[in-house]
Parts: sequence; C-alpha cells; structure tokens
Amino acid sequence: MDADLRELYQQVILDHHRKPRNFGPLTAPDRAAVGFNPLCGDRIQVQLMLDENDRITDVHFTGEGCAICTASASMMTESVQSKTLDEAKQLFHGFHELLTTGDDPGEVDLGKLSLFAGVREFPVRVKCATLPWHTLTAAAENREEPISTE
Ligand code: ZN
Repeated sequence: MDADLRELYQQVILDHHRKPRNFGPLTAPDRAAVGFNPLCGDRIQVQLMLDENDRITDVHFTGEGCAICTASASMMTESVQSKTLDEAKQLFHGFHELLTTGDDPGEVDLGKLSLFAGVREFPVRVKCATLPWHTLTAAAENREEPISTE
C-alpha cells in the first residue's frame, strides 16, 4: 500500500470512527441481529428496514466497537443502503475476499470499502472489519442468537 493510500485509509477510518453514519436504533426495524467479536470486545447490533422486494430501505447500527469495527459498520451502512439483501451479500463476499486475499475480486464495485485492503496486514483486525457484515448477514437471515466471530 503506498503512502498516499495509507493516509487516505487512516483519514477515512478516523472520520467514520469519530462520526459514525447511521448510528443509533431504528424505531421499528424489520430485522435485527447482534454480533460479538470476543478477541477485541466489539459488540454491535445491526437493524434493517426492508421493502417487499427485500431491498434495504434503511440500515442502522448501535453498540460499541474499536475504530476499525465502528468505521467498517458506518461505511457498510452507507454501502448497502438501497441494495437488495442478495446484492449486500455479494458486496460482503467481495469485501471478505479483499480482506483475506488482498485481491479486489472485481465482481462488485467495492467503492470506498476497498480502502480496507490495508486491514489485511493486521489479521486480528480482519474480524473487527468483518463483524458488522457478519451481523448484517445474521439480521438478513433473521437469526435470533447473537453471532460470534469465534
Ligand atoms: Zn475491534
């Protein structure tokens, strides 16, 4: 990762950590799930509003996480807004691929999420970055038990 990209990555992460987007509970979510990352202590809830075609009309998160987890959750809520659950799943697949292999799979447009490529250098942080997405998946599947990265 070159120095400019690293700096941009840090700026974006810090900005989303300080001012998380779509943070706070929805009044009447259609779906919700809780996710926990015991390695770091991140614990978040993701809430969804869906239309009749399973398209996400609103998505919020609450809870406490480290900078990477909070920024990832914040950017996730922006990325999946107005997407169908299937499209969100595709996006997660691409994001996960990027974080674990370092390759942008190219099947989906990751947009700003591609900045997280640097997290791959810190394997323990990969779980922080993917926790919001695992929790989103659990919410989409209506799972009632909290999910854990361990
Ligand atoms: Zn964390």
